[in-house]
Amino acid sequence: MTRRKFLGWIGAAAGAGAVMGGSASAASTKHFKGYPGSLGVLHDITRCIGCRQCERACNTVNALPEPQQPFDDLSVLNQERRTTSHAYTVVNRFQGEDKAHPTFVKIQCNHCLEPACASVCFVKAFRKDRTGAVTYDASLCVGCRYCMIACPFNIPAYEYNKAFTPRVMKCTLCLPRIEKGLLPGCVASCPKEALTFGPREKLIKEARRRIQRFPQTYVDHIYGETEMGGTSWLYLSARPFGELGMREDLGIQPAPSLTAGPLSAVPIVVGLWPVLLTGIYAISRRKDQIAAQERIEAIAATVADANEEMKVKLAELKDKMNKEKEAAINLEVKKALEEAAKPSEAEKQPAEEIGAAEKRKEEK
Ligand code: SF4
Ligand code: SF4
Ligand code: SF4
Repeated sequence: MTRRKFLGWIGAAAGAGAVMGGSASAASTKHFKGYPGSLGVLHDITRCIGCRQCERACNTVNALPEPQQPFDDLSVLNQERRTTSHAYTVVNRFQGEDKAHPTFVKIQCNHCLEPACASVCFVKAFRKDRTGAVTYDASLCVGCRYCMIACPFNIPAYEYNKAFTPRVMKCTLCLPRIEKGLLPGCVASCPKEALTFGPREKLIKEARRRIQRFPQTYVDHIYGETEMGGTSWLYLSARPFGELGMREDLGIQPAPSLTAGPLSAVPIVVGLWPVLLTGIYAISRRKDQIAAQERIEAIAATVADANEEMKVKLAELKDKMNKEKEAAINLEVKKALEEAAKPSEAEKQPAEEIGAAEKRKEEK
């Protein structure tokens, strides 16, 4: 199922719910405003210089592998990137009218207040923690990847290259560091203080203060304050967010209200929901297993063919070597026979010389 289809499906479900009963749409207008005192990060895009130090720090604190292109290679900014299983955060460059001053935007999981990833996860592998972090428990994950389809920010990445127990990978808000009283790795490493960590409410106040103080510098909007019901990462910018690859079409409704509303209005669907998802998961899992089995069989057949070919080639090679060896031996034998057939020095001496030598012996 593609992201577009899935979101379209959510939209259709929301529409159906609105038709089925007023309670569904009423329920969807109320949403969670975040745990009191929960934490977040304010990314002031106007301060970011695109140095990628945050990317480096993120890989270090999360023990992620070194990238193919080193962190000090800024040519990676020539292409817009997304997060991967080896990069929980990436910085992208956006060229504006002022070519000399591009804009840099850091992206990672936004730790939504009501996460779409958690709402579609029927085994509850994703959870919104009281700290503000959206956590992921790999031991519960069944690998259905609905979270990837549901995320409106296109963030979770899957370990496709891992044969056993692949995980969904994304920014953790550095929860293990926060619990020890440390700053998230990226925040601690930013040389321009483009990232500020703290209680979300305080970050919103600080963002408003900056906008009021420097109205010429900032657009009058805090991205993440209300988008999709609000996120723990917040953004300030000098340029409209739509010019910076950030979605402006998300609205203020949290994703779960789009599914919870219609689902709560139709009790039978509530009961069927996990069954339905489990069924879809089982089918996709079966497809994956069949595909994996086919891959294994194809590899085995290729290896068998290669072995057969190798055997034939080895036999041909052996035959050729034997023939060459035989030819070399024959040549040596022929040379030896020719050598042996040649007359010796003595045999070459003329008969008169022999007669004269014998006569000289008699005279003595
Ligand atoms: S470390 Fe700070 S300035 Fe450098 S790219 Fe990251 S957010 Fe921007
Ligand atoms: S940004 Fe995506 S992955 Fe992160 S909490 Fe929100 S929905 Fe989940
Ligand atoms: S909060 Fe931690 S995991 Fe998230 S982007 Fe920053 S360093 Fe990476």
